[in-house]
Amino acid sequence: ASVPTIRLTNGVEIPQLGFGVYQVPPEDTADAVASALEVGYRHIDTAEMYRNEKGVGEGIRRSGVDRGDVFITSKLNNGLHRRDDALRAFDQTLADLGTDHLDLFLVHWPLPGIDVDYVETWKAMEEIYAGGRCRAIGVSNFQAHHLRRLFAETEVRPAVNQIEVHPYLAQDDLRAFNADHEIVTEVWSPIAQGKVLDDPVITTIAEQLDRTPAQVVLRWHVQRGDVVFPKSVTRSRVEENFALFDFELDESAMAAITGLDRGERTGPDPDTFNYIP
Ligand code: NAD
Repeated sequence: ASVPTIRLTNGVEIPQLGFGVYQVPPEDTADAVASALEVGYRHIDTAEMYRNEKGVGEGIRRSGVDRGDVFITSKLNNGLHRRDDALRAFDQTLADLGTDHLDLFLVHWPLPGIDVDYVETWKAMEEIYAGGRCRAIGVSNFQAHHLRRLFAETEVRPAVNQIEVHPYLAQDDLRAFNADHEIVTEVWSPIAQGKVLDDPVITTIAEQLDRTPAQVVLRWHVQRGDVVFPKSVTRSRVEENFALFDFELDESAMAAITGLDRGERTGPDPDTFNYIP
C-alpha cells in the first residue's frame, strides 16, 4: 500500500509519512537517505541545525530518484532570525542540498526573549515564499499564542506547524487549533525517541495485531491525520516504520493510546527554549 498525501492550504501535496534525519551524523546521512528512498520514502525532514543537508542532497542524487519526486523540508536555524540572515540561510540551504527549490521551509523555534521578534522572521519567510523557490512555508514549535500574532501581523498563513507529539504528549488542543486555521500538524519525536515502546497498553495492542509497538504508535499518528517522519538508521527499522498502510487500529485501540497522554515532553518547551548554536 502506498503512502497517502495531505494537501496543504496552498494546494501542495505532502506525503504523510517521511524520513527524519535529526541526529543522523553528517557523514552517514547520504547512505541513510539513499537507503530510505530505496525502501520507498519520498519525504525527507532535515534542518540547518542538523548539519546534514549536504548528505541529504547527496543521498537523493545517489538514489537515482528524481528530485521532483522527493518532498524536502528544511528549517531556519536559531540565531538566523533577522531578515537578512534568514534570506542568506535559505540560499545556503539550497546550495547545500544542491537543489534549485525547497518543498517546505520552517522557522525551527519561536525563540522567546531573543533580540529578534519572530514576526520579523516570519516576514522574511514570506519574502522567501514570494521568491518562488520554496513551495510552502511553515513553523515549528509554535504555540497558539505565537500563531495568533502571525495571523494578526502578517499576510501568509503557515502551511504547517511541526510540534512534539506522541502518546505521552497527545497535544490535542494545539492540533485542533492548527486544524481550525487550516494548518497541517506535523509531529516530531513520534515514538518519543523510543520511550513509549515499552508501554503495556501499546505492547498489548501490538501483540493483538501482530505488529511492532513502533508500527502501532506510528499508525496512531497516521489515523489522527498528522504528518509523521520517524528517524532510524537501522535498515530493518526503516522498513518496519514504512509498513503502516496495510493495517488499522480500531476505535478502542485509538482511544486507549490517546488515553496515555500525560503532558510529558521529551524535548524542550517552546515557551522557554532559546538556545542559539
Ligand atoms: P523518534 O521518536 O522518531 O525516535 C527516534 C529513535 O527511536 C531512533 O533513534 C531509534 O533509536 C528509535 N527507533 C526508531 N524506529 C524504531 C523502531 N521501529 N523500533 C525501535 N526503536 C526505534 O525521534 P526523533 O528523531 O526525535 O524525531 C523524528 C524526526 O522529527 C527527527 O528526525 C526530525 O526530523 C524531527 N524533529 C524535529 C524537531 C523540531 O524541533 N522541529 C525536534 C526533534 C525531531
